[in-house]
Amino acid sequence: MTKTLFLDDSYLKKSPARVVSVKDGKYVILDQTIFYPKGGGQPHDTGQIIKDNKTYNVVYVGKFSGEISHEVDCTGLQTDDKVNLVLNWERRYKLMRSHTAAHAIAALLNKETGALITGNQLEENHVRFDFNIPKFDKPLLESYLTKANKLFSTNTPVKWYELPREEALKIPSVIKMAKAFPPNLPTLRIVEIVGIDKQADGGTHIKNLQEIGKITLLKTENKGKNNRRIYFKLN
Ligand SMILES: [Zn+2]
Repeated sequence: MTKTLFLDDSYLKKSPARVVSVKDGKYVILDQTIFYPKGGGQPHDTGQIIKDNKTYNVVYVGKFSGEISHEVDCTGLQTDDKVNLVLNWERRYKLMRSHTAAHAIAALLNKETGALITGNQLEENHVRFDFNIPKFDKPLLESYLTKANKLFSTNTPVKWYELPREEALKIPSVIKMAKAFPPNLPTLRIVEIVGIDKQADGGTHIKNLQEIGKITLLKTENKGKNNRRIYFKLN
């Protein structure tokens, strides 16, 4: 099983690794990785795998049968190769900032309106957010975004840790995603925005809300009863 270095240290931009296997010349499994595989509403990372002086661009990272597979743009890597991994940090850091922003906004909306998030999709340049607020009121939504921006100017730490499943499920707010209940694991990874939110989550996050900066509301959509959608982006 690949060691998931990004879960402990989301700021790791480089790492050595060993090639465990290569399928069809292009799908690479490593002993450890800094590349986040697409999942949980967070897009996959991109970057490079470097062997000697040759660079293989990582174009897709996914989880297949529990294994993290890195798709590279050319063939040549072989089992047992010693390689260096380099993350496309600009892309990842945006995703980290918008992922943590999404948790903070979900917590804020839930606290103020009781709304549950029914879906959220991060993209490199915007975030889409679905929730089941009973009344659709654009100025009200805008006021929550203003509140969120105020929150992002405060020195609020974010931390992540494992908790035994039983203990984690006692935290009332821990699973806010109405649909996506985590699979049956003995421990859950908790992402905590101190004083604001605790979520079971496998994504990569920043360490302080101030790193988000400010966000801008791009668009709101009324998709019908119990399905409202907003789009926002990092400034
Ligand atoms: Zn999340």
